[in-house]
Amino acid sequence: MHAANVKGYRKMSFWKEKTLLEMTQGEWESLCDGCARCCLHKLQDLETDLVYYTSVACQYLDQDTCRCQNYKQRHELVPSCVILKPSHMEEYSWLPDTCAYRLIHEGKELFWWHHLVSGRHDTVHEANISVNGKCISETHVHPDDFEENIIKWVEQ
Ligand code: SF4
Ligand code: SF4
Repeated sequence: MHAANVKGYRKMSFWKEKTLLEMTQGEWESLCDGCARCCLHKLQDLETDLVYYTSVACQYLDQDTCRCQNYKQRHELVPSCVILKPSHMEEYSWLPDTCAYRLIHEGKELFWWHHLVSGRHDTVHEANISVNGKCISETHVHPDDFEENIIKWVEQ
């Protein structure tokens, strides 16, 4: 039953009404917008600490769907693959500023293209937010050349 369709009730938007720590595991997982920006290699400037995203993607990323091909084994396969935890949000300043976890943590609204707002998972691609069609597998780029692949996001 959709409460929004019942007279006298309002639709529950858990991401507006709960903190990240209060969310169920299912709610937490559903918050991911599927952009896969976090699956791109990043470089951190040693002097400024600034983090730069590259267009080089993890080899386990399905670049068409922007989903991990080995989600359950991701940390075993890629030890540097961070499994986000609500209690560690202060450590994730490297997440893109479009990331739903970062937005909710910072008290901001989800963007119109987020599937929880739009009602469709395709909108993250249609809005040009996902990495679909914008990246290259790490299997084709030598680590010494990552710097040449630094990218800047186009604002949404
Ligand atoms: S950047 Fe955030 S919203 Fe996008 S895929 Fe990664 S965890 Fe999910
Ligand atoms: S292992 Fe999967 S979730 Fe982790 S960075 Fe690679 S593609 Fe992304």
